[in-house]
Amino acid sequence: MFVLAVLLAGPAVAQPAPAELRVATRVLPPMVEQDKDQLSGFSIDLWSDLAARLQLRSSYVIASDVRALLELIRSGQADVGISAISITAAREAEFDFSLPMLNAGLEIMVRSAAGPASRGAALWQLVNEVFSWTGLMWVAAGLLVAFIPAHIQWFVARRDPESSMSPEYFPGIFQAMLWSLGTLVPAREMPHRRLARVLAVVWVFAGVNLVAFYTAHLTASLTAQEPMGIQAPGDLRGKLVATTVGSTSAAALRGLRADVLEVTRIEVAFQRLLDGEVEAVVFDSPVLRHFAANGGRNKVALVGDLFNPEDYGIVFPLGSPLRKQVNNALLQMREDGTYARLYEKWFAQAAE
Ligand code: GLU
Repeated sequence: MFVLAVLLAGPAVAQPAPAELRVATRVLPPMVEQDKDQLSGFSIDLWSDLAARLQLRSSYVIASDVRALLELIRSGQADVGISAISITAAREAEFDFSLPMLNAGLEIMVRSAAGPASRGAALWQLVNEVFSWTGLMWVAAGLLVAFIPAHIQWFVARRDPESSMSPEYFPGIFQAMLWSLGTLVPAREMPHRRLARVLAVVWVFAGVNLVAFYTAHLTASLTAQEPMGIQAPGDLRGKLVATTVGSTSAAALRGLRADVLEVTRIEVAFQRLLDGEVEAVVFDSPVLRHFAANGGRNKVALVGDLFNPEDYGIVFPLGSPLRKQVNNALLQMREDGTYARLYEKWFAQAAE
């Protein structure tokens, strides 16, 4: 009876049905993307391949932020974690990490110059500008400024028989006004019809506005890659910068003495930036580059170099026997070209 039991149990012990691994992850495109119930992304493809090699079945548990993800591992609610988890000395003390699965690091993202789509809007703004109260005030101020020298000129010139100005106050003063306006702004010969003259004077000021407006826009677009002068990590001091809760970026920003706005979803940080509520977003380079090439195209720009280089790793509870197997499969993936194919699939676009 005993022998039979051992015989019956034998095959089951030799080939245990693979237990379902609970894999903690977090949505962070392009590492992990979510479309309804479907997960995709570099980390998901990587894990699927690793799991297939190790003949492991797995199911995902989605965490709201990186701290929550690590907590799932710590508390034993998940067996492994993969997303965009940076390997740090502090985390290494509490968890085990796989070999690096991707080189990353932090970058700074700001709002970018007005894209081509907004040129039409800029022109409309110019029209509004010229016919605004301020625009008309400028015309009035110009006329006033021309009025005084016109009187002096007419007064002096009226006794001069050589002068082309009439010695009569009318039309002499108009002629003097045209002279002083022509001196104020580089006007050409004035038309003779009265209405045409009024239009000519308005147009002269519109021209001044146009040049000023164009100069201002040109200057702005030349410098807009670095609004508020943010070009390097050192420039973030005292600035309101958004990033995600519990991230290595949040810690780095505190070290840089920036005012940190910590949000759960990185998309919220991006929106705050686009809405002008924060001056920059500091986060992982792969994630920022993905947004800059897709949803944030023409709206955001990355400034400065990558700082604080970091590697992403797969995280395990301390002493997990799985780590060695995962590392082995990861090395196989590198050696047989699978890793390079996955890298190309997810990062070719952002690599530029
Ligand atoms: N690489 C970042 C970290 O590990 C990601 C943070 C996040 O998932 O929001 O801290």
